[in-house]
Amino acid sequence: MTQAILAKAGRDEALTPAEIGSLLAIGDAAGLQDLYDCAYRVKARHVGRVVYFRGLIEASNICIKDCHYCGIRKSNHNVTRFQMDEGEILREALWAFEHEYGSVVIQAGERQDSAHINLIEQVLRRITAATAGGLGITLSLGEQTATTYRRWREAGAHRYLLRIETTNPQLYRSLHPPDHDFQTRVDCLAHLRNSGYQVGTGVMIGLPGQTLDDLVNDILFMQAMDVDMVGMGPYIPHHDTPLGRPLSPITPSHQLAALTLGLKMIAVTRIVLRDVNIAAATSLQTLSPTGREMGLRCGANVIMPNLTAAEFRCNYTLYDNKPCTHESAAACRECLARRIDRLGETIGFSQQGTPRHYLKRNEKR
Ligand code: SAH
Repeated sequence: MTQAILAKAGRDEALTPAEIGSLLAIGDAAGLQDLYDCAYRVKARHVGRVVYFRGLIEASNICIKDCHYCGIRKSNHNVTRFQMDEGEILREALWAFEHEYGSVVIQAGERQDSAHINLIEQVLRRITAATAGGLGITLSLGEQTATTYRRWREAGAHRYLLRIETTNPQLYRSLHPPDHDFQTRVDCLAHLRNSGYQVGTGVMIGLPGQTLDDLVNDILFMQAMDVDMVGMGPYIPHHDTPLGRPLSPITPSHQLAALTLGLKMIAVTRIVLRDVNIAAATSLQTLSPTGREMGLRCGANVIMPNLTAAEFRCNYTLYDNKPCTHESAAACRECLARRIDRLGETIGFSQQGTPRHYLKRNEKR
């Protein structure tokens, strides 16, 4: 059964929802290996064996949202809040450029005030000017108006990552306060597409109450939205959040199950979406020291080394045991480069790594 589905995937034939569900349900070691190998071949064929680095700049942990799972939610008063200024964000982006990272991701808690919108716009203009437009810039700054998205795009941003978190509206409601709206998030993804961004979305994997059918629907949603990029990773509890409390100890078998489910989602998403960019999320590394490399072996082609200055980094704790919180940007770069080399993959240094999917859609126009 599994073999027949993987053979179809190998021929780039479309899979039915039931077939996608069967792949996500694989539990035996041999079946998993076949799935990962198949996804790796699809990746090699459609996007090549090249890994792109996106330097991650965690620009601020100030947030107006109150998501029940997130460690930097507004109501968590045990966080020391920080906000990088223009110069600090610019300095990290230029470090990335000089160290041949093709692109950066500017991520932060959500703010919609005009001071914030202006600051991001200014930073985008300064990075673009200082690198002559050579550095790819992804934003991950939450829900904004269509006008704001357009202003940031015009100021130099190329890509935007806005995770839908889960496509089950009922589960979405249970994870967020009543004023956080699923449809608004879907609308934001449409605004981003209309503003000319390379658009990315994704979900948390292994949320309490989430079923395999939900994950199948998540993959079908990403396909229906025709996204260019996927960023998704395992849900990891944070002790100061409603969803993470009371914290039950994570046993090694829980950890392995969460890691495996995360890897299966990457593999099946690669098989279904084929030519998009898929990030090996940092939360994979919380579950295993080499979790992100495993992600690359299962179909991911993007890694996001953390550039955030050490003084801020330990306060950007979305979940417990976030890895590398004490490592410098330089140490992250070297250790990742070594690990990727060992996998036999090349790093696309100084390349923006625009998703093939985006390039093809624009060729068709
Ligand atoms: N505020 C921005 C970006 C910061 S949060 C936004 O909303 O887009 C980035 C991502 O971290 C979220 O989209 C969420 O999927 C993830 N995240 C938050 N809490 C998490 C947790 N406890 N475990 C795993 N991922 C989490």
